Amino acid sequence: MKVLLVFAHPERRSLNGALRDVAVAELEAQGHEVRVTDLYAEGWKSEVDRADFPNWPRDEGLRVGTASKKSFEAGNLTDDVKAEIEKLLWADTLILQFPLWWYTMPAILKGWVDRVYAYGFAYGVGEHSDRRWGERFGEGTLAGKRAMLIVTAGGWEEHYSARGINGPIEDLLFPINHGILYYPGYDVLPSFVVYQVDRFQPADFERVAEQLRGRMQTLETSGPIPYRRQNFGDYLIPGMTLRPGLGEPEARGFALHVDAGTAE
Ligand code: FAD
Repeated sequence: MKVLLVFAHPERRSLNGALRDVAVAELEAQGHEVRVTDLYAEGWKSEVDRADFPNWPRDEGLRVGTASKKSFEAGNLTDDVKAEIEKLLWADTLILQFPLWWYTMPAILKGWVDRVYAYGFAYGVGEHSDRRWGERFGEGTLAGKRAMLIVTAGGWEEHYSARGINGPIEDLLFPINHGILYYPGYDVLPSFVVYQVDRFQPADFERVAEQLRGRMQTLETSGPIPYRRQNFGDYLIPGMTLRPGLGEPEARGFALHVDAGTAE
């Protein structure tokens, strides 16, 4: 298997850096080929702006979606973005690794998504009409590939439980897992989340490293989160609401989009 790990931490000698080493070593020991994009080390430009679209007319207001579409189609995206797209096409599996900052990914990683997920590549794919709303959520350019998150959090696991004050971790990560990974087609594996990391001791590290090795060993075989697919009857098109009768009657919000009937 070919694995791309996108690493978003400013310090290589961090807990995240050490966990990255564990993950990469285990994947390589399993015979997988691994490439790493280290966003801070590579000085990734995170903001989308005019510099991303050198061919966009100088006297015209920048329309990012249109500029992205035209540049992608013409092969005019910047070299750093093209290199990341090439890596995404190369990899069978994508891992995004980051510390939870303000309940989500660090800005540099969001900027990687904003820039690399070009129109025509990650969105705006397939037929868009009254009958069909493109290929996304289970279909798309990256369909057939797998993806997962490795996340560290200062808060306790309990704080992120069903009744925890921070909200359930599945809900907090839903915009990333469903909105960023499932959207262009990835099968999304349950996230590997490490809690209460700021008071980590060496024994904690060994315990977590072992769990992470286990997850890397089953990366190729473990079942994905059973998100519902867009174009296979679960949703009314073009309104994109879940068809009446589907989902638990008491379910609301993000949980509706996981098919509980097939959940493990
Ligand atoms: P480090 O700071 O590198 O290390 C954490 C601990 O692990 C330290 O005690 C260190 O000594 C120890 N350690 C490091 N390496 C090793 C090793 N190899 N072996 C053993 N021990 C080791 N948390 C939340 O839960 N929710 C939030 O919304 C949130 N928002 C944040 C926003 C910001 C801007 C910041 C800075 C932090 C936030 N946090 C939040 C906390 C954050 O998630 C944690 O600080 C982060 O996950 C720690 O990861 P790290 O790699 O930076 O750890």
